[in-house]
Formats: sequence, C-alpha cells, structure tokens
Amino acid sequence: TKLRVGLLFGGRSGEHEVSISSARAIANALSAEQNSSKYEILPFYIQKDGFWQAGEVAQQVLASGAAIQNPAASPNLWQFPPAAQTVDVWFPILHGPNGEDGTIQGLLSLMQVPFVGSGVLGSATGMDKIGMKVAFAQAGLPQVKYKAVTRAQVWSNPCVFPKLCDEIESDLGYPCFVKPANLGSSVGIAKVRSRQELEAALDNAASYDRRIIIEAGVVAREVECAVLGNDQPQASVIGEITYKSDFYDYETKYTAGLADLFIPAVLPDAIAHQIQDMALQAFAAVDAAGLARVDFFYVESTGEVLINEINTLPGFTATSMYPQLWGYSGVPFPELVDRLIQLALERDTVTE
Ligand code: ATP
Ligand code: MG
Ligand code: MG
Ligand code: MG
Repeated sequence: TKLRVGLLFGGRSGEHEVSISSARAIANALSAEQNSSKYEILPFYIQKDGFWQAGEVAQQVLASGAAIQNPAASPNLWQFPPAAQTVDVWFPILHGPNGEDGTIQGLLSLMQVPFVGSGVLGSATGMDKIGMKVAFAQAGLPQVKYKAVTRAQVWSNPCVFPKLCDEIESDLGYPCFVKPANLGSSVGIAKVRSRQELEAALDNAASYDRRIIIEAGVVAREVECAVLGNDQPQASVIGEITYKSDFYDYETKYTAGLADLFIPAVLPDAIAHQIQDMALQAFAAVDAAGLARVDFFYVESTGEVLINEINTLPGFTATSMYPQLWGYSGVPFPELVDRLIQLALERDTVTE
C-alpha cells in the first residue's frame, strides 16, 4: 500500500503564492515514476484567512497554481478536514510566519504524525532572526554587528526613540539594514543611509513584527549552501546570487531576470569548505532537521565569511536555490523529495 503524504501549502503569510509554487513542484516530483508507486498525495491548502481546504478544492489550487479564498469557509478555522486523520506523513511547505516558525510544527507534533523538516525549536529559532543570531553567536559563528529592538521601543514616547536611533548610528553606522525579525523574502527589510531613512524603516518594520533587528551593512558576495539530513546532515555545493539592484529585495527575488544563480559558485576550495562547515554548524546550532538553506556573506577583499541566516523551509520551486543545489550535488528533485520523506520517518522526535 502507498504511503499517504499530506502536502500542506498556502498559509497565512505574505509568502502564500511562493508556497503554492513550491507545493506544485513537490507534487510533480511525487508523481514522477520512481515515487508514484510509493506515495499517494493528499493536498491540504490553507487559505490566506487560515481555513483548511482538502480534497477537490486543494487539488484545484495545486493544479491551477492560483490562490483561492472560499467565502463560504466555516468561521471555525480549527476544523480540520476529516482527510487529515488519514495522513501517514506530513510535508509542510509553508514559508514565513504560521508555517516556517514552529506553529504548524507544534500542531503536527500534537497529532503524533511524522513530518518533513525541523521541529518546533528548530523552526522557531530559525525564523526569529534575533534568536537565530544568539544561537549562532553561541556556536562561535562569525556574523555582522547587530542590535535588537522591540516595537514598544520604536513606538515609545518621543524621548526614548531619538536615543535609540543615536545608539544605532554610533554602534552600527550607515548603511545598515532594518528587518522585522520573523519574516522572509525580504518583506519589510530596508537598507538605510540616513537618520530620516532609519526612523521611517524602524516604523515600517514595527508594523510587521514586535521584534526588529538592525544590522551593520556589509559589502560582500552572497552565497548559499543547502543542508539535508537529521543527526548526520550533509552540505551541498555552494551557490551564488548576483543582481544589479541595491540589495536582494522582494522584487529582485520574484521578478524573472533580475537575479542570477550560479552553481557552483566560483570560490577558492578552502572558502567553499569553510562555508559548508559553517552551514552544518548553523543547522545544529538551531536544532534544524531534514532540510535548510543557509545564507552567507563572503567578503572577498578580506577572505572573511559571515553567516547571514538559516531558512528551515526554503523556496522549493523547480528553479529555487535549494533543489538546484542538490541537483548539482547529485540528488535530482524526485529523489530529494523521497529522501526528505524518509528523513521525516526516521527522525528521532523523542525529547524525554
Ligand atoms: P530569505 O528570502 O532568504 O528568507 P530574508 O527575508 O530572511 O530572506 P535576509 O536574507 O536577512 O532576508 O536579507 C535579504 C537580503 O538583504 C540579503 O540577501 C542581502 O541582499 C541584503 N542584506 C541583508 N542583511 C544585510 C547586511 N547586513 N549587509 C548587507 N546586505 C544585507
Ligand atoms: Mg530568511
Ligand atoms: Mg524565508
Ligand atoms: Mg536570505
């Protein structure tokens, strides 16, 4: 009998559409000849309002690639489709908050059904850039100078805010990057070069998240490494991203032709090995499992490698960096999806 794979996609975050594209690519890989005799796909689509759709509706979103918002949805968002009880293994491919951050992973843990990817701790630590950086620092991984602030500080009385900006200016200087701590796809991120831009960016970031991080800007090449495995994970070859825009912002990420991926990145062997090593250390530092894409800055002039972030549910479309890195490393897309499901079944989730 076939293993029933609950493909969970869509979701409440700003990366809803990316999730649909990732799910389509994964469904396609599960239907490939070597997988179709092993796995049966059960699609579950989470609407933007959080309502779960199974069966034909989910199948239709998967087939068309277009988001839907069923107005007749039950007001009880916690009513799971009955089909959810027949899933043997979950494959959540949700990006951003309420999907990549440990919330869904907590729910699936409570269901006591195995799932692909990191558990609650790894997902939450990987999503929150402040918690993530604390874990990286503890592991001895070099990173840019940064400062963590809260929405309450940004929206505080007018005596506190100028002092906060003074501190950021003297500690980090310009340009610096202002980011909501729990997002992806560069949503809410600004590169700022003046006091006026800093104030506006902090206010904007505070509208996305209670937690905000400000980082010193670095001039560097952007390289990424894919990790696959549980307790003995493997690192892929390194990929590089180039673009002409000011930084790798949302538009550059999702407009065809604005960014180029180079696999493998042209790097000295020692640097490539160092990046792979750091990727594995980062994976362990946040307690990731299954898969992750680790992003780095390579400062060519000094030979320095700084870790930027880890993404525990990276973009998974056919042209995304994660599957492409594995493709080049000798793991074709259908095999990658098969390996991830096997890793989910093998994973040691017992923490007692
Ligand atoms: P992802 O879609 O990879 O999850 P994200 O939303 O988590 O992205 P980051 O990777 O932190 O965001 O930053 C997005 C981009 O902003 C980087 O790829 C880089 O181009 C630029 N950037 C971020 N931080 C810095 C920095 N400290 N110095 C220079 N550039 C930076
Ligand atoms: Mg990210
Ligand atoms: Mg992300
Ligand atoms: Mg990134």
